[in-house]
Amino acid sequence: MAEAEIFVLSDTEIEVSALDLWYDDGAVHALRDITLDLHPGEVLAFIGPSGCGKSTMLKVFNRMHDANRGVRLTGKVTFQGIDIHDPSIDPPLLRRRFGWVAQKPNPFPSSIWQNVSYGPRIHGLMRDEAEMAAHVEASLRRAHLWDEVKDRLHTLAGTELSGGQQQRLCIARALSTMPDVLLMDEPTGSIDPVATAKVEELVLELKHDKAIVLVTHSMMQARRVADRVAVFHLGRLVEIGPTEDVFERPRSAEAQAFLGGLVG
Ligand code: ADP
Repeated sequence: MAEAEIFVLSDTEIEVSALDLWYDDGAVHALRDITLDLHPGEVLAFIGPSGCGKSTMLKVFNRMHDANRGVRLTGKVTFQGIDIHDPSIDPPLLRRRFGWVAQKPNPFPSSIWQNVSYGPRIHGLMRDEAEMAAHVEASLRRAHLWDEVKDRLHTLAGTELSGGQQQRLCIARALSTMPDVLLMDEPTGSIDPVATAKVEELVLELKHDKAIVLVTHSMMQARRVADRVAVFHLGRLVEIGPTEDVFERPRSAEAQAFLGGLVG
C-alpha cells in the first residue's frame, strides 16, 4: 500500500474489536476479548496490576509482536479505518505513524543529531539538510530539550545526558517521524519526580495533535494526565471511561478492588 493511502480522515484513530492474543504458540492467553477505541487529541491511560496485559496491548497497535513467532492473534484492529493486519499494509510504514517511548530511556549511543535525524532519514521525510536541521530543532523544541543541547548536537551522545534528558530525547526521537499516535510504556517509571513532571507536562501539550496511550503504574499520574482510563485485569479490559468516572465510580468489581485504596 502506498503511504498516502494510510491517511484516511477519521475521528477514531484506533479501533480494537474482539481481540485475543496468545504467546508461546497458544500456551499464554494474554489478552481476552478486548474492544476499545482511541481518538485524536486524547490521552488514554492503561492501568491494572502487573502482568494483566497492558504492554501486550500497546505492542499490538504498531505490530511489534510481528517479530515474535509464537504470538497468535484473533479479532480486528484498525488504524484510521484500515485493518492493520491487512496483507497490503507495510509494517514499517505503519510503524512510522506511531512513536514509541519505553520505560527505560534508550537513546542510541550516538549524537543527539543522529538520534533525532535517523527516523526521518530512513523514511525519506526531508528534502535536504536544511529541512532536516529545522526538523531536528523542532522535534527537540517540542520535547523541551533544545535549549539544553543546541550547542552540542553533534558532539554529545544521547547516552551522556541525564536520565530525564534521555527520556525527553527519546520523546523527540519518537516525534521525529511525525506520528499520529504516541505509545508510552511507563515513560516515567525510571526517572525522578522532577523529570516525571516535565514528561507529564509534555504529554498534556503533545495530545493537542496526537492520540496518546500511556501505560502507567501511577494512579496519580493517570488522574493528572489521562482523559480516559482503561483498567485491565488478567488479560481482560474490565472498565474504560472518563478518568474521573473510573476513579470516583468504578463499576466493575475488579476495578473497584484494584482502585480500592483510592475509592470512597
Ligand atoms: P503488563 O504490561 O500489564 O505488566 P504484559 O502485557 O507484560 O503485562 O504481560 C501479560 C501476560 O503476558 C503476562 O502473563 C506475561 O507473563 C505474558 N507475556 C508478556 N510478554 C511475553 C512474551 N514475550 N512471551 C510470553 N509471555 C509473555
